[in-house]
Amino acid sequence: MAIGFLGLGIMGEGMAGCLLKDGVAGTVDTPLIIWNRTTSKCHALQAQFPDKNIQVASSPKEVVVGCTTIFSMLSTPAASKAVFEAEDGTLAGITEGKLIVDCATLAESDMKRMNDQVREVKEKGGEFLEAPVSGSKGPAAGGALIFLCAGSETVFNNEIVKSALDSMGKATHFFGTDVGRGTRAKLVVNSLMGTMMAAFSESLALSEAVGLDGNKMLEVFSQGAIATPMFTLKGPKMLTKDHSPNFPLEHATKDMSLAVDMADSAKVKYSVTKCAEEQFKRARDDDELKIEKEDFSAVFEYVHKESSSEFSETRKIG
Ligand code: NAP
Repeated sequence: MAIGFLGLGIMGEGMAGCLLKDGVAGTVDTPLIIWNRTTSKCHALQAQFPDKNIQVASSPKEVVVGCTTIFSMLSTPAASKAVFEAEDGTLAGITEGKLIVDCATLAESDMKRMNDQVREVKEKGGEFLEAPVSGSKGPAAGGALIFLCAGSETVFNNEIVKSALDSMGKATHFFGTDVGRGTRAKLVVNSLMGTMMAAFSESLALSEAVGLDGNKMLEVFSQGAIATPMFTLKGPKMLTKDHSPNFPLEHATKDMSLAVDMADSAKVKYSVTKCAEEQFKRARDDDELKIEKEDFSAVFEYVHKESSSEFSETRKIG
């Protein structure tokens, strides 16, 4: 009856914490079995929840062998493939009845490949659900994610999976049995979010360059039809150069590129988003700024770097 969790990064740590806090896992009857490449993060979770039944596995395979339901929250397509296909990786532990729920933001082709590997190619008899999430570090820790699922109905309707998704999320959507549709939804959401951030950064930089008070402009934004929690949460921190990572710029850039590829495949003109993607890539790759691991709001610093307004020049020095 154990539940498994692979990947205790910014998101995974909070998500696993929800399962423990809500008693969905970490009990005598239902241990939480965890694995993370950097093992210290597993021990940190154990230390955070000393009264819970948390077991640290030495490999992804060991997690899968020990559990029926396994959640995975790894960073990139490359990381997911490496962990999935390693000799002692996820796939190596799959047998009939194993339920895999992958919550990362990957390409549709990655999700389809993993689904095939779990279900068909090796005739293993496992079941796969893609469940990428909308929401960031705070919602992950607070059980307020939005799950965008597609794939196996057996997994989606499983009582343990349901209670886990309820614990980690505030909403769960099922886009059908075709794996890939959840990822499509996720990439649409994130490319809109990234494009909003790129435009927001430029608007804030322009506001201050023309002598307007940044905080006053945030108040104005918050009162009209363009009000959005992202501007309210990130705006004040951006003005003070606080880009502590909730959603790292490197991952946001990955998502923008995946979405642009999807738009190209779908033959949809995605020109505004492509501009934002270019902006993100240049910001991520900037050797002077070194902001790829900072929050994606740090694209604001790139806008200032590329601007020559008196305000931007002064801000750079200060
Ligand atoms: P993160 O903090 O960078 O954590 C990523 C996890 O992947 C860590 O457990 C890391 O292990 C592991 N990892 C990376 N490369 C690996 C490799 N080569 N082999 C094995 N493990 C590897 O990322 P995150 O913010 O939690 O995001 C996880 C996923 O959720 C990403 O797909 C992201 O796009 C998506 N997402 C993020 C947010 C957000 O706001 N952060 C929101 C929605 C969706 P180590 O601890 O050893 O580095």
